[in-house]
Amino acid sequence: MNLLLIGPPGAGKGTQSKRLEDAYGLVQLSTGDMLRAAVASGSELGRKAKAIMERGDLVPDDLIIDMIAARIDQDDCAKGFILDGFPRTVPQAEALSAMLADKGLRLDHVIELAVDDEAMVKRITGRYTCVTCGQGYHDEFQKPARDGVCDKCGGTEFTRRADDNEETVRNRLDAYHGQTAPILAYYKNQGVLKGVDGMADIDAVTAQLKGVIGQA
Ligand code: ADP
Ligand code: ADP
Ligand code: ZN
Repeated sequence: MNLLLIGPPGAGKGTQSKRLEDAYGLVQLSTGDMLRAAVASGSELGRKAKAIMERGDLVPDDLIIDMIAARIDQDDCAKGFILDGFPRTVPQAEALSAMLADKGLRLDHVIELAVDDEAMVKRITGRYTCVTCGQGYHDEFQKPARDGVCDKCGGTEFTRRADDNEETVRNRLDAYHGQTAPILAYYKNQGVLKGVDGMADIDAVTAQLKGVIGQA
């Protein structure tokens, strides 16, 4: 089963992808995570992407499409994947359709996490992640049970993204509405778009998603 979650920064794509990975045995493909790894490694792609990401603009389509095409070919994707943060433009969506058709694959569910922009600023500026296992947290909305200790792995080191500041978030929200929201119409026209209320609390959103997806 292959899933696509669509929503602006802070909508809960990463949080819900991690839960669906566990529930359905899928692999999360986050282009944001892949790009951050490329930046950290200092690769050519990372060097091209770094300043663009810091501004909150979109990395050029051709770089993203090459990166995801290589990733989807890896063995662990055969059991199914969750796309998080890709496609983000209509040309990316078209390239994805061609890529999947080529491999005889399809998207089983395309789901929009519908949210209010203003609430996303607070979600993004309060976001942090466990360095050891990647579990996501929030200063207010998703605290670990023990202060400073990761629920999942017991790690005590956390990190915040360089682009998770208010100014960049507003630019990322503009990029979403200008360049990414048109993919909603692309999938709606294909009759495959579904939606859940992303403003509900985290557990309630997971329950809605499982309702849409059904049994594994
Ligand atoms: P995205 O991947 O769509 O950018 P995340 O899943 O990283 O979003 O969520 C952004 C932040 O908001 C995280 O700190 C997360 O803990 C928190 N969060 C996610 N979903 C919800 C929700 N439904 N209600 C409140 N906070 C949430
Ligand atoms: P968020 O979880 O807040 O939505 P991501 O981690 O998905 O953010 O993306 C972080 C940054 O990486 C984006 O602001 C953009 O610069 C770049 N990026 C990620 N995915 C894509 C993509 N599919 N196309 C272009 N740029 C991307
Ligand atoms: Zn952890």
